[in-house]
Amino acid sequence: MLSKLPSVDRLIKHPASQALVAAHGAVLVTEQARVLLAELRQTLLGEQPPASVPEEAGLAQALAARCMQRLAPRMRRVLNLTGTVIHTNLGRAVLPQAAVDHITAMMAGPNNLEYDLASGSRGDRDSIVEGLLCEITGAEAATVVNNNAAAVLLTIAALARDREVVVSRGELVEIGGAFRMPDVMASAGAQMVEVGTTNRTHLADYERAITPATALLMKVHTSNYAVQGFTSAVSEAELAPLARAKGVLLATDLGSGSLIDMGQYGLPKEPTPQQMLAAGCDVVTFSGDKLLGGPQAGLIVGSKEAVTRIRKFPMKRALRLSKLPLAALEATLTLYLQPDLLTRDLPTLRWLTRPRDTVAATAQGLLAPFQQALAPRYSVQVVELSSQIGSGSLPVDRLPSAGLAIAPVLSGKRGAGTALEALATALRGLPLPIIGRIDDDRLLLDCRCVDDVAPVLAQLPHLKAVFA
Ligand SMILES: *Cc1c(COP(=O)(O)O)cnc(C)c1O
Repeated sequence: MLSKLPSVDRLIKHPASQALVAAHGAVLVTEQARVLLAELRQTLLGEQPPASVPEEAGLAQALAARCMQRLAPRMRRVLNLTGTVIHTNLGRAVLPQAAVDHITAMMAGPNNLEYDLASGSRGDRDSIVEGLLCEITGAEAATVVNNNAAAVLLTIAALARDREVVVSRGELVEIGGAFRMPDVMASAGAQMVEVGTTNRTHLADYERAITPATALLMKVHTSNYAVQGFTSAVSEAELAPLARAKGVLLATDLGSGSLIDMGQYGLPKEPTPQQMLAAGCDVVTFSGDKLLGGPQAGLIVGSKEAVTRIRKFPMKRALRLSKLPLAALEATLTLYLQPDLLTRDLPTLRWLTRPRDTVAATAQGLLAPFQQALAPRYSVQVVELSSQIGSGSLPVDRLPSAGLAIAPVLSGKRGAGTALEALATALRGLPLPIIGRIDDDRLLLDCRCVDDVAPVLAQLPHLKAVFA
């Protein structure tokens, strides 16, 4: 039977393969043809050889499938129905269309990343967003780096290397991914001086800890957890006069750092960089892809003197922001010049502010199609849910939301876990994977981040086929 297999050459000459070669080049197609034929030869020589050798047209089709699989990207679009709006595992903030457009336009050719078009001389990449950041936050100066972890590391290294940094024991946070405050201090070459206790720290604790070796008082926003009950922390506004009087600097790491008052939308309040600067901080750091709703970036705003020291510190070169996120950041920040349109144009804010009734209407629109796709194995209903903001912002707050709850139809209680896992796996295996969450023997699909039901509905024939 082996003799009936075509040669690599012959398979490549098939018209369907020739179309593949035209699209993807001879190197990839020939390599895949070789592997395909070698595997077939193994099967034919194996213990259970197939009854016949596939037709050449069938082989050409298999070759096309192999080539497509080889070229398929590992990074895929997914539908976030987890109920967590800023989902770190799903890429955090989704970029506004303006940012996507600006990236596309800027990356397709050369741009003035570090070129001053007015003078024709070398420019500074920071200048692309510094004006916007200063205007929005009221800062004297601003610089940007790869992410907020880098912003914190660089700030401490530039302002306090070989000196002491005073930080409250209630704020020695771990953000995840091995970003722990004590380790960051050590990496930055600073000596950490812990003050206060886990639940209570007072102004006098900071005051006593300041010595001639102190360079910086550091505040860290308690992301991902809340200290509740018998607690006390010293605010930036209370620390600023102490820092001034003692001749040390005051920095705060906001983590999320919303640029607007979230309270105006009925959302839980997050401290803003503007408030922190007004309170007297010399440096404020925050993320680009959390509540701000832009690309991964670390934003550093503050006094001209402190920011200049940070910008000139050699480590800055290693942590600098690439032109890709820089373009996205510029376009995202520009949206903040039209603040009344943010809930329309910035996906993160659009989803966070979407009223529960609107989310429920979306869920209602998906109900019958999901029921049809999953009957009779699963029952589907619309339920009230609560969404999370995500990414460590406002860890204890929940947004009233709605979605679908899908449960296996079983005679007894047994097998529910397996049936739910099978459903979750099928949803993840769709052309556009749907990511939900399993809770209380149900698979939940929170509809808060669904702008348009069409892409969701387009998955249902594939889902139906899995359970047919
Ligand atoms: C998220 C967070 C960071 C890290 O920010 P990245 O942009 O993810 O690097 C640092 N500090 C705090 C308080 C955070 O919440």
